[in-house]
Amino acid sequence: GIKAEGVEKRYGSGASAVTVLEGLDLEIQPHSFVSLLGPSGCGKSTLLKILGGIESASAGDVTVNGVPVGEAVRRRQFGLVPQKAALLPWKTALENARMLRQIATRRKRGADIEEAAAKALEMVGLTEAAHKLPHELSGGMAQRVSIARALALDPQILLMDEPFGALDAITRDEMNLRLADVWAETRKTVVFVTHSIPEAVFLSDVIHVMGTKPGRIVETLEIDLPRPRTLEVFDTPTFQEYA
Ligand code: ATP
Ligand code: MG
Repeated sequence: GIKAEGVEKRYGSGASAVTVLEGLDLEIQPHSFVSLLGPSGCGKSTLLKILGGIESASAGDVTVNGVPVGEAVRRRQFGLVPQKAALLPWKTALENARMLRQIATRRKRGADIEEAAAKALEMVGLTEAAHKLPHELSGGMAQRVSIARALALDPQILLMDEPFGALDAITRDEMNLRLADVWAETRKTVVFVTHSIPEAVFLSDVIHVMGTKPGRIVETLEIDLPRPRTLEVFDTPTFQEYA
């Protein structure tokens, strides 16, 4: 699991310093699906980057399965889906999907790499777009390639920053169902940032609500709904009704 204690994050120094996170405590059970919800600017992305070791906290401790987060990064336990897709523009969807796994395994080729990338593209519904370049993809498709890239890595912990933010409502419902299936199958620890309460309820075991100024966890909700869940927890029409 992941444990954060007394995490503080300041940007800048002196009179222009801003404290984004302060006194933030958080514990995430292994193999659980956890959502982070909170107003824009409260520090969700900042927290996710600290949990994944991409940014360091100004104070406090973050451990992953009992080891400091930096060590967990060296062991490549994380897959991050950043808020902006950041694909390599000269590489196809499939090549982008392979990339993190190639880096992690320090191998260019391998049956496992091909299989993981193809399966991940299938999971996000992009098999047919495998050979398209990023500029030939819509924003939502690019975001799904970014998800595939993290899934293909097959990390212990998946950190997802508003991964479905750029998707249309129908694709978003479909992706929610697929992610729920992937999670049920793999039982990865997932930390999922979203602005959608129904989405968080549909996917999560636990929802942590963040407050602002400074950012910290103000409320923790356990979601006891049985699984598999149906999209009826959404109050919007589901893609099944459109299909
Ligand atoms: P959103 O829901 O809009 O994505 P968020 O909760 O993810 O918001 P963050 O991106 O974590 O919010 O930003 C939290 C605060 O930290 C914001 O006020 C932002 O301006 C500030 N911030 C983030 N990164 C930096 C940086 N590199 N330098 C200075 N301030 C920053
Ligand atoms: Mg953010």
